[in-house]
Amino acid sequence: MIKKMQIDLDRRAGFCFGVENAIKIAEKELKAGNKVYCLGQIVHNEMEIRRLEKLGLLTIDHDTYKKLKNTRVLIRAHGEPPETYRIARENNISLIDATCPIVAHLQNKIRTCYEEIIKEKGQIVIFGKQGHAEVIGLIGQTGNTAVVINSWEDLDKLNYHYPIYMYSQTTRDIHEYEQLKQEIRKRLRETGDREPPPFISYDTICSQVSSRATELEQFARDHDLVIFVSGKNSSNGKYLYNVCKSNNPNTIFVSIPEELQLPLSGSPQRIGISGATSTPSWLMEKIRDKIKEFYHL
Ligand code: SF4
Repeated sequence: MIKKMQIDLDRRAGFCFGVENAIKIAEKELKAGNKVYCLGQIVHNEMEIRRLEKLGLLTIDHDTYKKLKNTRVLIRAHGEPPETYRIARENNISLIDATCPIVAHLQNKIRTCYEEIIKEKGQIVIFGKQGHAEVIGLIGQTGNTAVVINSWEDLDKLNYHYPIYMYSQTTRDIHEYEQLKQEIRKRLRETGDREPPPFISYDTICSQVSSRATELEQFARDHDLVIFVSGKNSSNGKYLYNVCKSNNPNTIFVSIPEELQLPLSGSPQRIGISGATSTPSWLMEKIRDKIKEFYHL
């Protein structure tokens, strides 16, 4: 008997509450007929951006922002550095602040730490991607003095004779963070200083990301084929895709339905569709429907 193909949508996939909140705020403003500029892409997903732009959302970069006056600008979930707020005050821009509360809390924590340690030559370290919007907002709290660490090689940037306070971008891999912390501890011990300087690290990876990774491992193992849907610029998407791929080598990455090649190779029976915290549910549903239509399910 030929077994029927089964397609499961990962119910935990889709927008995290920070992104969902920012999109809801934008939609509310647009519905009220207000002109809404969004500083940077509201979410790292081209399809969702196109949908919102059709409703009237205007995405602008930071150079354009600096030239605006007397208008309203939305700050997305990733947050912004203090400089952005200063410009708003100077140019009479009303900010619609949709910074995710978790990111805002992290920014406050880093700012307070910076103010406390400034005299002791302490170093604030951010495990994150240089140039990522959230990271720019975080290092902005330290007058751009924080050291951004993205890889093992970057650890050479630190001075192991002075205190280190370490934070992570909210969407990073928890295991990689642990490994970097261990290496820092090791290097501090190896300095030969009679008393190694303090090293304090904070668990600042968002639980919406870290808990998803564990569940995604099982989801990936439970399917013959996993279709992972995400924008190509999403850090969280890259991370969660790798989680899938390492638990099920038969995982493919697609950003838009057109990228999915049919028929699917290997005749999979159980197909799982998952996505990043920036992937809209409707996009995963579109991919499911494309497969259903092709196979007459
Ligand atoms: S991943 Fe977490 S911290 Fe980042 S926007 Fe989403 S809810 Fe906020």
